[in-house]
Amino acid sequence: MYRRIVVLTGAGISAESGIKTFRDQHGLWEEHHIEDVATPEGYARDIDFVERFYNTRLEQLNGGDVAPNAAHVALAKLEAEFDGELLVITQNVDDLHERAGSLRLLHMHGELAKGRCPQSLQTFVLREPFGVDNCCTCCIPAKRLRPHIVWFGEMPFGMDRIHDALDHCDLFIAIGTSGTVYPAAGFVDAANHHGAQTVEVNLVEADRHSQFQYHLTGKAGEIVPQLVEQILAGKVIGSDKPD
Ligand SMILES: [Zn+2]
Repeated sequence: MYRRIVVLTGAGISAESGIKTFRDQHGLWEEHHIEDVATPEGYARDIDFVERFYNTRLEQLNGGDVAPNAAHVALAKLEAEFDGELLVITQNVDDLHERAGSLRLLHMHGELAKGRCPQSLQTFVLREPFGVDNCCTCCIPAKRLRPHIVWFGEMPFGMDRIHDALDHCDLFIAIGTSGTVYPAAGFVDAANHHGAQTVEVNLVEADRHSQFQYHLTGKAGEIVPQLVEQILAGKVIGSDKPD
């Protein structure tokens, strides 16, 4: 029986819902160069362009054809029914975990649906698109909100809480993220170091240098619901591997 579980989700789980994020592209995000749309320098160079980019991403996310998939739903079920502690850490900036019902969730790379005051760092749920008039309510004069997204060169959110959770977990599952690139590579090392079981779920076969103890290859939407049923049934992963 597991008592404390940490789940890390990456681009792969969102891809199965039709959403692309910059972590899964080779230097591109929706055909835009990362350095133009996902760096502080790109933002400083052309605020209007970057704001239009994030406004479009948010419109796409809120368009009718994007929905959580079976993996998101299964993780929300795990949170609702698991008797121990669960923390879901996501590298994704969409809100598909929330839409599926997850509450104990940490967006380490920020959220598309929020803007941030550059002065106080307070975050605001966006009520209108980014623009010159979309400002904070915490400063006088009010400051123009910036996307609440961790850009390249910026520190991910919640690292203290993440490491605290990893130091005390007995199961760490990474879903749809390579697990071999920082910071996920550090997460699995921390979990292994503290004696947790470590499991990765990926569409492509695991890298042979992977630090995970178990590798499950296939669609998250098919594998994660099976894993969740195993955990809720009190089984140890690997003792009864899903097909
Ligand atoms: Zn402010």
